[in-house]
Amino acid sequence: MELVTMKEMLHKALKEGYAVGHFDIHNLEWTQAALSAAKDENSPIILGVTEEAVRYFGGFSVAVAMVRALLYEMNITIPVALHLDHGSSFENCKAAIDAGFTSVMIDASHHPFEENVKMTQMVVEYAHEREVTVEAELGSIGGCEAGVSVVSKNSIYANLNECVELVKLTGIDALAPALGSAHGPYKGDPKLGIQEMIAISEATHIPLVLHGGSGLPVEQIKQSIASGTAKINVNADNHLAFTNTIRDIFNQDADIYYSDNYIALGREKVKETIKKKIHLFGSAGKA
Ligand SMILES: [Zn+2]
Repeated sequence: MELVTMKEMLHKALKEGYAVGHFDIHNLEWTQAALSAAKDENSPIILGVTEEAVRYFGGFSVAVAMVRALLYEMNITIPVALHLDHGSSFENCKAAIDAGFTSVMIDASHHPFEENVKMTQMVVEYAHEREVTVEAELGSIGGCEAGVSVVSKNSIYANLNECVELVKLTGIDALAPALGSAHGPYKGDPKLGIQEMIAISEATHIPLVLHGGSGLPVEQIKQSIASGTAKINVNADNHLAFTNTIRDIFNQDADIYYSDNYIALGREKVKETIKKKIHLFGSAGKA
């Protein structure tokens, strides 16, 4: 099956009260793990690629070719969207769309509001002409973006009026309002702004996106879904599952040298992690 956009899968999720998982892919193995987990669970799935991962892969077209080849070889028939995660400029969103991504996020949230609107409008215009979906962000999601940053960003809540304006002025397909979640493992107990989420959802009527879905208490995930969240981004939990598995293997066997053997075990743990998220988000059987 060909890649699809987020449009239908997110509207169905919003209507039926579940969320579609967005899982960042960083290599061949995680892509196999994500597709295999979603196939087993008959769930729609969003594969996210950050700009760092694009550089790691060696280009947008490498990610597209890899995902398309796996869809074919693995007989994937569930809906799969390929989404640029935290696109930082119009140029990068355009490059992703031109290469075959079916969805992009333009993250201009650190710019003044007017500039965020302007950049998002440009991306939406280019994307919608090509039937590609667009996610935008408001406020500031806490933590570090790439797992390597030493500086933690503070979380700044999205402003309700700006959310309404941004949606009205740009025609985006999904909105990520920062409401206390963070990228990377949480330090201390996170507290999401659920009341604010409900208000934004009721005022904008579009699917909301929750970034920093790793390590959030189950209750807050469920409350978010009940409050208009239709897409949840997960990344850190897969890094933890993969890295901890391989670290344990190295600790237990100092002589292991054949890399396929331990990478495959790491891949299996990522798959298990994604399956658990799919159940938690309620998207199993919704393909
Ligand atoms: Zn994010």
